[in-house]
Amino acid sequence: MAWFKKTRRRMASQTAEKRSRVPEGLWVKCPDCGQPVYKPDLESNLSVCPKCAHHFRMTATERLASLFDGGQYTEHFAKLRTNDPLGFTDTKPYQERLVKAREATGLEDAVIVASGKLEGLDVVIAAMEYAFIGGSMGVVVGEKLTRAVEMAFERRQPVVIVSCSGGARMMEGALSLMQMAKVSAALARLDRARLPYISILTDPTTGGVTASFAMLGDLNIAEPKALIGFAGPRVIEQTIRQKLPEGFQRSEFLAEHGMLDLVIDRRDLKATVARALRFMGAESGVPQGADDRSVAAMATSSS
Ligand SMILES: [Zn+2]
Repeated sequence: MAWFKKTRRRMASQTAEKRSRVPEGLWVKCPDCGQPVYKPDLESNLSVCPKCAHHFRMTATERLASLFDGGQYTEHFAKLRTNDPLGFTDTKPYQERLVKAREATGLEDAVIVASGKLEGLDVVIAAMEYAFIGGSMGVVVGEKLTRAVEMAFERRQPVVIVSCSGGARMMEGALSLMQMAKVSAALARLDRARLPYISILTDPTTGGVTASFAMLGDLNIAEPKALIGFAGPRVIEQTIRQKLPEGFQRSEFLAEHGMLDLVIDRRDLKATVARALRFMGAESGVPQGADDRSVAAMATSSS
């Protein structure tokens, strides 16, 4: 016979029941200031930390909703999808990655093209989705962006592209690299038609996207502290065998060194884009492209 025996049942815990009443993920920890942030507060603040202004990554749909008036827009070319032209497999088949990404994002590929009104101005806006294989640019992203530019060309409307990408999609090999030239060529046509193109660079914008359309804007605007570059810092350090300076490849550093025109807080982004487009003549019906001098004048007037 045991000397000690639990004769009474343990008191029912109340905490287990209570815990389930708090929905998971209602608080997020800000990676910059470390403070807990109430998620609805964050969402109403365009995913900018209310305490330290850290810019959280936005989805493409959130981005479009934040730029278009009343969050209203018409999506274009949504049905385009890639067919794995190389039959590529790395750690897992590309097809499998595509299926997962489609399930996770509800999108067919890593960009959404939309048209609508921005502060009353007719615009075509394309926003990249980082959650879709790192926002990488394959044949579909290239084709959709080209069509977006061509649509703007036909309608005589300005173009805004919001980049958020790790670069070209390696699973599509050289075909993805060709998209750099294709989108750039379409933008050159837009430029000759004197229609404005504003590039918005968000965290991160790297690789073939930086090396093509993201840096071709009449105005290149970045969000604060965004990582923008071609190769990553580790690769550069290994190549040039030198330590890189503090803040290298961040928006502020790049703006200081003439690689960007403006670094704008997300909460002021829409107003800035609208002001720039009006300055470039978007309101007058037939927009005029901005020459270098007028862009410089605007950059100084807004800073
Ligand atoms: Zn913060």
